[in-house]
Amino acid sequence: MSNLKFLDLLAASFENLPGVGKKTARRYAYYIVEKMNAEQVEEFAKVLIETKNNVNNCPVCGMLSLQIPCEICSSKLRDKSKIMVLKDTKDIIAIENMGEYNGMYHSLNGLISPMDGIGPDNLTIDLLEKRLDDSVSELIIATSFTPAGETTALYLEKIFEKKNIIISRLGYGLPAGGDIEFIDELTLKRALSNRSSNKK
Ligand SMILES: [Zn+2]
Repeated sequence: MSNLKFLDLLAASFENLPGVGKKTARRYAYYIVEKMNAEQVEEFAKVLIETKNNVNNCPVCGMLSLQIPCEICSSKLRDKSKIMVLKDTKDIIAIENMGEYNGMYHSLNGLISPMDGIGPDNLTIDLLEKRLDDSVSELIIATSFTPAGETTALYLEKIFEKKNIIISRLGYGLPAGGDIEFIDELTLKRALSNRSSNKK
C-alpha cells in the first residue's frame, strides 16, 4: 500500500474517531479524494475548524456552547432550583434531547475511578459546590450504574449531605452498567419522574 500513502494519512485521521475502524476510515478517505469536489472539501474543512474554534465549555455547567455562559445557564425560563449532575456533556445532551427536564446541569467531566487514577480533585466538584447556594433546592445525581458512577454518586451524597438541599438520584428502571447516553428516552423519563431522594 506504499503507493497509497496519501490515502493512509487521511484515513489515519478518521481512524482516531470513536467507532471508526480501518476499513471505514479508508472508505471516508477515498470518498473525500475521489468523490467530493474541491468546494465541498473546503466547506467541510471550514465547518470543522469553525466549530472547533467557536464552541467552548460553559464555565458554569461545562456544557458545550457557542456562548458564555451557555444557553441553558443564561435562560430565564429554566428552573434554577434544580441541578442535575452528570458524567459529561454527552450525557447532558442525552437528557436535554429527552425534552422533559427544565432544570440546570453540571458536567463532572468524568467519574471517580481510583483504578484509572481519577479522584474527586480531577473532576469539577469544587465548581459544583460553589453553585450550591440558597437558590438551589435539589441536586439530582444522574451518574450511570457502573462502579465509577456509583462511587461518584456516593461521594457526592456524602460531601453534600449536610447542605440544606434534597439530594436525589435517577434510579428506577435504569440498567446496571448502562451509560446514560445509550439509554432510551422512555427509560430516562421514567427514571427522572421516579427519582429517589435522601429527604422525603
Ligand atoms: Zn452552562
